[in-house]
Amino acid sequence: MSDLRPLTTRSRVVSDKRMTLMERIYLPAMVAGLLITIRHFFRRKPTVRYPEQERPRPAVYRGRHVLKRDEKGRERCTACGLCAVACPAEAISMVADERKPGEEHLYREEKYARIYEIDMLRCIYCGLCEEACPKEAIFLTDRLVKADRERMPFVFGKDELVEPMDPARRIDVSGRQTAAVRTFKQNPRYAHNR
Ligand code: SF4
Ligand code: SF4
Repeated sequence: MSDLRPLTTRSRVVSDKRMTLMERIYLPAMVAGLLITIRHFFRRKPTVRYPEQERPRPAVYRGRHVLKRDEKGRERCTACGLCAVACPAEAISMVADERKPGEEHLYREEKYARIYEIDMLRCIYCGLCEEACPKEAIFLTDRLVKADRERMPFVFGKDELVEPMDPARRIDVSGRQTAAVRTFKQNPRYAHNR
């Protein structure tokens, strides 16, 4: 006796009855198939024409990162590396440098990131870098990382990440600040981070 056992308890009786004339000419089956196609043709389409068209995203959506400047236009990042340590995908790398005299208007702290890169193909958009940052320098935004056919364009450097100096073109991340976060930031104990 064979040791083979059925994988399921389901069974189907297979019959080899002769096909009727209508079944043999396939026309009714083709018409039924066409009717299904026509019905779907006039239905509301679930797809959008990305990238020309984008679906609306919630304000708390975790998308492409931004490195923020402070109110004076200085880069907030101090290259402490906490975001890189917190990143589970090891997507962040940076090279720190010392601020030179005369660069106080560019960098808020004495140490800054001369090179700061995020590999967007490794990133899983978990937001842990944002949570780890003690300087409120890095935020995820509701913007998308555009598709590309090559790999290298997905390694975003400071030119892609740091927000523009022009106050009118700054990236608004206030939508990600829930009431609890805003209350937390009022705590004078964390004033050095603002
Ligand atoms: S969102 Fe997550 S995976 Fe992406 S860079 Fe930040 S910590 Fe790393
Ligand atoms: S983004 Fe924040 S956590 Fe990351 S290196 Fe800069 S200051 Fe540190």
